[in-house]
Amino acid sequence: MNDGIGLAEMLLGLPGFRVLDVVQSDVEVVVWIESTVSRAFCRSCGVLAEAQDRMRVDIRDLACFGRPARLVWSKRRWRCRVRLCPARTWTEHSSHVDAQAVLTRRAGIEACRQVGENARPVAQLADELGVCWWTIMNAVIEHGTPLVDDPDRVGRVTQLGIDETSFLAANRQHATVYATGLIDLGRHIVIDMVEGNSADDLRRWTENADPAWLGGIAVVATDLAESFRAGLSPHLDHTRRVADPFHVVRVANRCVDQVRRRVQNETLGHRGRKPDPLYRIRKLLLAGSERLDERGADRMLLGLRVGDPDDELLGAWLAKESVRDVYLADTPADAALLLDKAIVGCAGDEVAEIRSLGNTLKSWRAEILAHHDTGASNGPTEGLNLCVKKVKRCGHGFRSFNNYRLRVLLHAGGITWPHRPRPPRIRTRSPHSDA
Ligand SMILES: [Zn+2]
Repeated sequence: MNDGIGLAEMLLGLPGFRVLDVVQSDVEVVVWIESTVSRAFCRSCGVLAEAQDRMRVDIRDLACFGRPARLVWSKRRWRCRVRLCPARTWTEHSSHVDAQAVLTRRAGIEACRQVGENARPVAQLADELGVCWWTIMNAVIEHGTPLVDDPDRVGRVTQLGIDETSFLAANRQHATVYATGLIDLGRHIVIDMVEGNSADDLRRWTENADPAWLGGIAVVATDLAESFRAGLSPHLDHTRRVADPFHVVRVANRCVDQVRRRVQNETLGHRGRKPDPLYRIRKLLLAGSERLDERGADRMLLGLRVGDPDDELLGAWLAKESVRDVYLADTPADAALLLDKAIVGCAGDEVAEIRSLGNTLKSWRAEILAHHDTGASNGPTEGLNLCVKKVKRCGHGFRSFNNYRLRVLLHAGGITWPHRPRPPRIRTRSPHSDA
């Protein structure tokens, strides 16, 4: 390989194309190419075709040595010389470039990987490659959909997690739009995303799922949402339901927050401000007591003494701690005992928020205790929620749920990405070796 064109063709790496010229500007490398095909036969009648003319097609390819690359394909148009043949004229095609596409296939596949695997913004890739947003999104849809739809992506699932995330924040036109994520707690992957968070939304999904696959699910972990509990029926009636510990503690934390805000308002007549005693201990109140050091505990008690005249917030804090204690129990029997104590304690309280916490605990008693037998928790789900949030942040607010679902599943859905060969590593040279 010693002539310039041969070198250029080797660098280009598109079999079936010949490089005519390489021109560089400040902003891109332009490679003029044509196909190496010298003759073609009519698709309709099989007669040897005549060359009619050429048309110029501009295509974006992977960046080349740090610069965006443009291929200018001098695309040949063929003509059938049989006069009455219906084929008339047609243009040549290549497996590397789809008809009408402005990206080569390899650039589209790489864009899909960047948006999916690495959760990079579509707009960023569009900018980098020099194409419009939809060109990249279409490549993600085209190359990503088969990966997401691959029946081998989700295997047998024995522990299913269900969790909601917000899909669209509320605005003038609509309230917050939620989505429900279904998670394989064994493999820590998102199985699917469903628009909405109602019982019907969840039920519709289970209705369409393979009954044999659903039959393999033994445990379902959810947050304390009645809609999810209802939506599991009838297709997941055979499963053991678990209330996710993270969400149980969160319900208790919410009770503390509610009481703190109300007491704050009643004693001071305004919402929490920086110097207010209860506002200052708001985070200490939510931390587990085992995580408070002596100084933290002193500060918290002082704040309560100053800001909580009727010990209402203290009561809420104790109730919250009694819920946390359930998860410190060593045996299921101890857990049941502690939970029942918590429920009774809350039920007899004078503070409405604490009584309401007690009702929630009572209504979810079986599910809360099921955690101790099954060990199932949405802990991994919360990790996945972070992934989902990452995708959402980089999407700057999705309008299309399908695109959102596709990108979440590409990022956190356990995709097997096409193998990309790893080049041998060139080791770092020590600074004095080339002196
Ligand atoms: Zn023909």
